[in-house]
Amino acid sequence: MSDRVLPKVSFDHTDPGLRPFIEVEAKIILDVFAQARDEVWSARDLVERVADTATSDAEAGAREMSEQVPSTRRLLPVCQEGCAYCCHGPVFASSAEILRVAAHLRATRSPDELAALRTRAKETAARVAPLDLEQRAVEKVPCPLLDQASGRCGVYPVRPIACRAYHSGSVEACKKGFDACETNPLLPINPALFHVAHAYSFGMMTACAAEGLDPGPYDLAVALPAALDDDLSARWVAGERVLPSTAVSERMREGYVTTLGELSADLRAGRLDAASRVAAKLDPDARRRERNKKKRERRKNG
Ligand code: SF4
Ligand code: SF4
Repeated sequence: MSDRVLPKVSFDHTDPGLRPFIEVEAKIILDVFAQARDEVWSARDLVERVADTATSDAEAGAREMSEQVPSTRRLLPVCQEGCAYCCHGPVFASSAEILRVAAHLRATRSPDELAALRTRAKETAARVAPLDLEQRAVEKVPCPLLDQASGRCGVYPVRPIACRAYHSGSVEACKKGFDACETNPLLPINPALFHVAHAYSFGMMTACAAEGLDPGPYDLAVALPAALDDDLSARWVAGERVLPSTAVSERMREGYVTTLGELSADLRAGRLDAASRVAAKLDPDARRRERNKKKRERRKNG
């Protein structure tokens, strides 16, 4: 794999404006696990509840925080159904979200549709698994869940948080990045919609890690065939790693293991911030000052 583009946790889990969202969602998901034990849910129901809770909380929480930014300074995404430049790159998603996507497909597709989808998913996985991020941007392999005729997502109600958080204020910027094969195109984004959604995702994954489960992330396109072939929920809930990695996703996962370990320890020790401080910290000027302060500290420390 090229060293020029490394997979990384592109999210600052130490940001005091984001940690409360991690805390809130981690506690919500830990409650889901506790309820599942009390009421003896099936593994499939537990996976569904974990993924659905996190994805809907992420979307609603991000939107709510975005609305706290004055409308004159708030970027509105131009994303529309059928626009899908962004569905031609890797999607890194948690184990629970990938298992949820597969369960949704098994429950909503006919046997023939499912057979065709399995074939497409396997072909896509075989194409993308050996590629690094730069090669992936060149190859522009569509997500196996994208309906290429309509540009619509085939699992829209259960799509991962990474897909929900990704947006842009300019289709032209997306097309430019797509045409130029950029791995990480510079897009105008609404920081609240992007970062807050990811904070909820980290909250859910922190809870999974605290429960001793493999949080992921995995490359959706590579992991999907295994998740479609079998219901892996029971093995995942038993603590097994059930989804296949690539060199890229494995390196990314290693970063997450460290980050989620720190967050789990902070959660146990009560070191994540109180949720009531969220609104103040989301003030863009306060965030800018915080970032500048961190930069100064980093420069000072060499
Ligand atoms: S992120 Fe860009 S490519 Fe994706 S839907 Fe939005 S505008 Fe279209
Ligand atoms: S899951 Fe849906 S939204 Fe996400 S990349 Fe695939 S087609 Fe696009």
